[in-house]
Amino acid sequence: MTHYALLIDGQLHPGKQDDEVLDPATEQVVGYAARASQAQVDAAVNAAHNAFTGWAANPQARRTALALAASVLRENSQSLAELISREQGRPLRFTLGEVAGAAATFDYYAHFEAPGAEILRDDEQRRASIERRPLGVVAAITPWNVPIILLVLKLAPALHAGNTVVAKPSEHTPLSTLLLGQLLKDVFPAGVLNIVAGDGEVGEQLSSHPLVRHITFTGSVATGKRLYAGAASDLKRLTLELGGNDAALVLEDADIPAIAETLFWGAFWNSGQVCFAIKRLYVHESLFQPLIDALVARAEKTRLGHGLDAQTELGPLTNRQQLERVKALVADARKHGAVIHSGGDQPEGPGYFFAPTIVSGIGAGVALVDEEQFGPVLPVIPFSDVEDAIRQANASPYGLGASVWTRDIARGEAIARRLDAGLAWVNQHLEVQPGAPKGGYKWSGLGYEGGLRGYEAFSDLQVLNVARPVV
Ligand code: NAD
Repeated sequence: MTHYALLIDGQLHPGKQDDEVLDPATEQVVGYAARASQAQVDAAVNAAHNAFTGWAANPQARRTALALAASVLRENSQSLAELISREQGRPLRFTLGEVAGAAATFDYYAHFEAPGAEILRDDEQRRASIERRPLGVVAAITPWNVPIILLVLKLAPALHAGNTVVAKPSEHTPLSTLLLGQLLKDVFPAGVLNIVAGDGEVGEQLSSHPLVRHITFTGSVATGKRLYAGAASDLKRLTLELGGNDAALVLEDADIPAIAETLFWGAFWNSGQVCFAIKRLYVHESLFQPLIDALVARAEKTRLGHGLDAQTELGPLTNRQQLERVKALVADARKHGAVIHSGGDQPEGPGYFFAPTIVSGIGAGVALVDEEQFGPVLPVIPFSDVEDAIRQANASPYGLGASVWTRDIARGEAIARRLDAGLAWVNQHLEVQPGAPKGGYKWSGLGYEGGLRGYEAFSDLQVLNVARPVV
């Protein structure tokens, strides 16, 4: 069984102990992840701190390394994707897509031209400009649902901007990130990229380290709030990409046969373990039954299975806690009178599987509707007045994504603009354009990831005033 090591200062290290990582489809051990000690977290941050000045001074070396990282990922895409499938559960064709997306992200930043200095004044007496400087050591903390792309979306811009990084993956899916560290060991100079693994305690040691200047975090609202509070004492910069409870509004003119498949995948891709998956579906009452029928038909023919089985459409939930949470939310919904149209149960056999579940008969006030469930369950809620649907969609502490489904594009756009969501779609959900800043309103986050706004988070401004000698 393979043991996966930490990457600290350009060297692979065993941890203070080995944590077993289970395949969520079989509950068998996939491999062992080294868990970092406090001393190793310190060593990783110190290594990043020591590497910072040299790395920040050499933009060309940064571009070259990022381009090399892209090609190393492409060369190793099969082994990396298989490991993601085995520890996270998603079908291989999607994890191959994840690795391809990560390679493309490294490539994008290898060729990215950061905006130059803004000149405020430039004459015989004075030159004044606004420039950007990297921050120093960045702590990158990631969740378990899409482990490699979510990390690379942080790494590539942070490194391009001249920062050094200490990354910490989720304790549920650490192996692919540790393998990534092994693959990139010689791509970056020692100390520029470090990877420590472990649970929330290791995350806390890393994020509270005095030499960390920026925390870039993707994960739950609860952990995000803790990090925000913890960062205050040291005024560390932070970017928070947190949970969502996305609403989709299907208007009375929508073409159900045409949109059912896209709606289904908007809710169920990765077994619903997507921050901006559709988690509440509001439908005009005239289309309620046809929509339920179409979604149930699609749910019932969905093939559940191991991620490495080519027939599989949906894998399991990634860990037992998540499965138990989804089961508890569905049981609570039943108590509140929910009608379960498909699924609703864990199938027989090993693994954390849960059949795609279409639910109706519940609304606001029931946890399955109010909270982020992060699983393969979709409550469908009829409305008669679109104003009421907009109000319900916005009556949430979350504000990550939202979509409107209609044949009337102008009306769809007008409604989408009124939804409290950092990502708003018409007749689609999930698609993120390259270069788009991804960020959530309200509890769904702080700051942006991706695009120029996301890139700028990895630097501070410096106003440089130069007095020219009078000759
Ligand atoms: P989580 O908050 O439990 O864990 C995320 C990471 O934080 C893990 O690496 C964990 O070990 C670490 N951590 C836990 N406690 C910590 C602490 N006190 N200090 C520092 N680090 C700590 O989240 P999760 O369950 O792994 O991920 C699922 C959540 O992530 C969902 O809410 C989902 O919506 C969200 N998510 C958001 C986005 C986005 O882009 N907005 C993307 C993917 C997932």
